[in-house]
Amino acid sequence: MKNFDPKAMKSPKNYLNLVSKETGLPNALERRKNIVEQMSELNSKGLDCFSCSGMCCTHQYNSMQVDPVQALELLAWLESEGRLNDELIEDLEEVILEYRLNKDFMIGRNREFRRKYTCPFFMKKSQGCSISRAVKPYGCLAFNPLEKNVSTEGKCASNLDVLIERENKNLETEERANELISNELGLYWKKKSMPFALHEIIKALLKP
Ligand code: SF4
Ligand code: SF4
Repeated sequence: MKNFDPKAMKSPKNYLNLVSKETGLPNALERRKNIVEQMSELNSKGLDCFSCSGMCCTHQYNSMQVDPVQALELLAWLESEGRLNDELIEDLEEVILEYRLNKDFMIGRNREFRRKYTCPFFMKKSQGCSISRAVKPYGCLAFNPLEKNVSTEGKCASNLDVLIERENKNLETEERANELISNELGLYWKKKSMPFALHEIIKALLKP
């Protein structure tokens, strides 16, 4: 996407507002509240990522996927932060090409192979993630260390209870919002890697 001009695209923030109004979708932080709280609680007990190189954010282990709602709210946040620019597009396209995130590879009738990639929002080592907890993918928020000073693999886990609790609470509105976005933007997927999903929505929001 050469010479990307954010003014040439519909505002993700405005579009998210329209989707929220039409579907009753609560705001991003409200829907993540229980996962953010459990993460903060772990952090207050010293279970944090400060000693780690960030294995779960790199191509070693990261294969995080997001739905259209999560991708749109992340874009809306990036827009508010002044980060919806050429640099973002270049980063997304670089990661998509490097890890072939635009290539579908089915491993079963309806099961797609999840490719691993280094997240474009990973800032290396203890600097960690450059995204606010309010808009981070649910899966990223729920994956935390099980003990203090973790620096090697196998000592972290996903808290499925909070993920399921969050999903049950928001299932209907998120389904409505995902369907609306997919129909209006012509998306063929339900979940994709974060870089690909963001890039797809940016392309769809570019004005004709
Ligand atoms: S969750 Fe675990 S693997 Fe990921 S950055 Fe934190 S300590 Fe490292
Ligand atoms: S969004 Fe943040 S926590 Fe999630 S994979 Fe990317 S850098 Fe890691």
